[in-house]
Amino acid sequence: MKIEAQQSLKDYNTFGLDVTAEQMIRVRLDSDDYRNRDISELKKILKANKQRLFILGGGSNMLLTQDVKGLVLKNEIKGIEIIRSFKHCVHVAVGGGENWHKLVLWAIKNKLGGIENLSLIPGTVGASPIQNIGAYGVELKDVFVRLEAMDLKTGKVKTYYHQDCDFGYRDSIFKRKLKGKVLITRVVLRLSNAPHKINTSYGAIQKVLAEKGIQDPDIKAVSDAVIEIRSSKLPDPDKLGNAGSFFKNPEVSATKYKQLLKAFPNIVAYHLDNGKYKIPAGWLIEQCGWKGKRIGNTGSHAQQALVIVNYGKATGEEIKAHADRVIKSVVERFGIRLTAEVNIY
Ligand code: FAD
Ligand code: NAP
Repeated sequence: MKIEAQQSLKDYNTFGLDVTAEQMIRVRLDSDDYRNRDISELKKILKANKQRLFILGGGSNMLLTQDVKGLVLKNEIKGIEIIRSFKHCVHVAVGGGENWHKLVLWAIKNKLGGIENLSLIPGTVGASPIQNIGAYGVELKDVFVRLEAMDLKTGKVKTYYHQDCDFGYRDSIFKRKLKGKVLITRVVLRLSNAPHKINTSYGAIQKVLAEKGIQDPDIKAVSDAVIEIRSSKLPDPDKLGNAGSFFKNPEVSATKYKQLLKAFPNIVAYHLDNGKYKIPAGWLIEQCGWKGKRIGNTGSHAQQALVIVNYGKATGEEIKAHADRVIKSVVERFGIRLTAEVNIY
């Protein structure tokens, strides 16, 4: 592992923002290194380091508004292996630097279920617990067993079980109290053997399956449907810089929802188990006229208003200014303050 100085991060963040990392190191380990607990080299580097540390996975959930001072740790810890087999499921240990969608494809190829609804989400496995990635009615926490993370100050590796992670909607302890303090090196997931529990609760999946005449979908059919929907709707970061949904979907109280329904009878909302209502942020933004609107080098995507895009030459500051404009207009129209899902630096 060697330190690279003045490394451009343009190719390492999906907004395609051309900022520079003062120093960067690729943390390269495989499952054998892990089995042997051979992470001493990384520990040594961390011990000697006096600079600020910045963890980078696939860069698909961050907005970089400035150059990164200090040392960037780029997670390239690899390995996917079944570590325990049970009658109905297996435990799979995955290196934090593995690509998430590669893991989904591996699971489907090995007839293992549970993450097919999370197909085509960019980024690394190590980042997946951070915002408890979710899509189409499934969240990482549904299959999560435990993870290992290295304390960036002491170099000590600690295991975090489900109850330690405080998972919430696009949220966990790693996005709050432990943000920037630990490096998630390995994640263990519980994947099912057939017969799988298939989740087609989201209308878009049902529609695609119906169009294909599939009545009894298996995990591959669900994954294919999700890939088809996402490819038709979401901008490909390789062609148009973006970080997926820029904002979280807000949750409002039943009282606030009733007020909104009175004022906006066509409002879209989902009743949640906690009694609150989830309003799709994309709908709120669209109602404010932002869908497909471009201002300079940035704007809200034409097919999904929740996604802010870089038309090529935007700076992080420009994108942030656009996000602020969107927040302001949603507050003015609906009295709801959107919060960023993307990590802003
Ligand atoms: P990065 O962007 O590199 O990092 C995100 C944050 O986590 C940063 O604060 C970083 O410092 C920290 N971090 C990264 N790795 C580690 C680690 N190993 N240990 C400790 N901290 C770490 N998200 C969803 O939940 N659902 C979706 O459906 C979804 N769809 C998307 C579609 C598109 C087109 C895009 C561009 C993004 C989408 N996202 C979605 C957001 C994003 O893909 C996920 O949040 C993903 O988990 C981020 O992974 P990453 O490796 O790119 O993280
Ligand atoms: P969509 O299907 O157009 O739905 C809009 C919003 O309504 C979604 O955000 C979703 O909330 C909610 N929703 C739809 N059907 C629902 C149901 N049956 N029950 C509860 N909530 C429902 O959304 P989309 O933009 O095309 O995204 C599809 C899925 O992929 C969503 O789950 C979305 O979160 C995920 N996605 C996430 C990102 C990201 O960067 N985080 C980017 C693209 C897509 P939820 O978001 O809570 O599911």
